[in-house]
Amino acid sequence: MLGQTSRTKEDNEEDVSSSPVSRRTCFRLTTTALSSVLGFTSVSAAQGVSRQATLTYPIRPGTKEETTVYVTEAPKPGPTVMIVGGQHGNEEAGYTAGEAITDWNIDAGKLVLIPRANQPAIRQDSYGGLEGNLNRHFPAGERPESDLARSIWNVVLEHQPDFLWDLHSSKGIYSEGTGVGQAIFPTAAGDAATQANALKAYLNRTVVDDYPNRYQFTGYNQKTDGMRDMLIDKMGADLATPAAIFETTRDGLDLEIQVTFTTAAVQRFLERYGLLESGTNP
Ligand SMILES: [Zn+2]
Repeated sequence: MLGQTSRTKEDNEEDVSSSPVSRRTCFRLTTTALSSVLGFTSVSAAQGVSRQATLTYPIRPGTKEETTVYVTEAPKPGPTVMIVGGQHGNEEAGYTAGEAITDWNIDAGKLVLIPRANQPAIRQDSYGGLEGNLNRHFPAGERPESDLARSIWNVVLEHQPDFLWDLHSSKGIYSEGTGVGQAIFPTAAGDAATQANALKAYLNRTVVDDYPNRYQFTGYNQKTDGMRDMLIDKMGADLATPAAIFETTRDGLDLEIQVTFTTAAVQRFLERYGLLESGTNP
């Protein structure tokens, strides 16, 4: 959720993981194709055609907050996009989509993923973690307020993303005034609003078009960054880097659908930003 301070435990959602095309599937198709052309055995082909490597490393190692950073770099240069899920532990769509995206290949640039930002909150299925609402620990112009927030911010500083997405879900729907779901909230920085508007139009035209109108994506475009202590605000205020929060809703949608909306949004954005070639499965 974007604005609520509710810490109540939500109803459990159906536990469905979603990853339409896994890295393993892509890899096997690639090696098979090259094997037939080049005459490699599958083993040597598998060693020779890896398009990219995913580097993983922990932040907050050895603590209850330990979580994994995934860095996937394509041989072809391009922008760096960072994606964070699971700041709020009861918002399953964000971290489930984040985990699915760890399997994706990209065609250019670099993808930095922290799918499960707040592990204690996720384990407890609670909004906040050990030190409350993680997404209020990022004051503009100041040091982040918790060890976990500082570790996440250090990942930002290390990789200097060109755009950051923060994946969430809400109990309600923004256009109905019951929450912040089915909405995208960009920062004022850079092309965040342009990207958000294009993505909303795409999702409404092609992804939620068969759903009731209440699931159309809305959201406002922020005028000033740094007014709230959110990660995306700090991106805009301190680094002038565009960022946006993506919110699906748990109202009437099972987890699998929420995750599908979220991964569809990320895929389309990565195509627009040049990390994925259009029309290919990541
Ligand atoms: Zn949230």
